[in-house]
Amino acid sequence: MSRNYESLHDPNAEYTMRELSAETMETTGTRGGGRDVEITDVQTTMVDGNFPWTLVRVYTDAGVVGTGEAYWGAGVPELIERMKPFVIGENPLDIDRLYEHLIQKMSGEGSVEGVTVTAISGIEVALHDVAGKILDVPAYQLLGGKYRDEMRVYCDCHTEEEADPEACADEAERVVDELGYDALKFDLDVPSGFEKDRANRHLRPGEIRHKAEIVEKVTERVKDKADVSFDCHWTFSGGSAKRLADAIEEYDVWWLEDPVPPENLEVQEEVTKNTTTPITVGENRYRVTELRRLIENQAVDIVAPDLPKVGGMRETRKIADVANQYYVPVAMHNVASPVATMAAAHVGTSIPNSLAIEYHSYELGWWEDLVEEDVIEDGYIEVPEKPGLGLTLDLDTVEEHMVEGETLFDEA
Ligand SMILES: [Mg+2]
Repeated sequence: MSRNYESLHDPNAEYTMRELSAETMETTGTRGGGRDVEITDVQTTMVDGNFPWTLVRVYTDAGVVGTGEAYWGAGVPELIERMKPFVIGENPLDIDRLYEHLIQKMSGEGSVEGVTVTAISGIEVALHDVAGKILDVPAYQLLGGKYRDEMRVYCDCHTEEEADPEACADEAERVVDELGYDALKFDLDVPSGFEKDRANRHLRPGEIRHKAEIVEKVTERVKDKADVSFDCHWTFSGGSAKRLADAIEEYDVWWLEDPVPPENLEVQEEVTKNTTTPITVGENRYRVTELRRLIENQAVDIVAPDLPKVGGMRETRKIADVANQYYVPVAMHNVASPVATMAAAHVGTSIPNSLAIEYHSYELGWWEDLVEEDVIEDGYIEVPEKPGLGLTLDLDTVEEHMVEGETLFDEA
């Protein structure tokens, strides 16, 4: 027991993970026969989408290859490369154990939160694809089955005239009528012309009026046709956030997102509890340990974990379980390629409190070309019945849009 514990926490330990697995098997008896498959390689390729998507592939000696995705960001491919020795030779069906093992193995390098958790998330998503393919079940089945056949998707909207309330309303109407979405989001941390010094986080009265006008114009334009949320990107002081939330209460917004900086949960709680405007927070917190406090303190009305950043599919499921104890819905933040978006759809269908998944790439033009399947149709994702994530990566599209200097995945 102590040998396992110490070796997991000692970066210089000489034990291979294969040896640790053997010990685990001996002590717990949890790994039976008939599951004889090993991970042989882990590869990454970055694709230049509207964010630099980090695609991850896990290869096995069964000839099955799983595809995952980690949230974008510097250092993620390097961290995945660093973790490769910790998973090669391991059984890809033991998703939970491998996830916890990576968290423990990387704890000295920062796996409590941040980019290391993001890198682990990418591997974890790929493991669900591998396991589903080996067991011949869709990934949602690994998570407990379905609550719904389709996942609602909300479209993050932009216009070049982001500060013009009428232009925002025009774009909202276009996205609803022409693209078929019934759920939208607009940025509210846009210039109003009234700013004096944005560093102090205080909103002047003119700024509040301008933001309320954007909310009014957009919500009135698509009233009864779409739900609309508004994102503030952690910009304002607690007092200003309360004044803004109060000013838009009359417009029935879907939610107001991240009105205050993310570090101080007490301020977040104060804002949320002082308005009837629903407040959504969560995309830059990591693992259930961090999201738990937001939820338990009732500092959020809707929680917004980012699956390929927060810890992966099962970690998102755990967050949703805690949220469900407090009757809090889950609206998954998402700026990913179709890979992690589909992973979110599998998780979303497996939890009762799923509200929607974000889509952040409607201006890109080739988002769906990354895979052979249709992904979003009329604002919804039909959760596939094919094994794993149910996607086939289009390697020609990957190659066409690879970040300069990247290498294409090996064939299966
Ligand atoms: Mg946001």
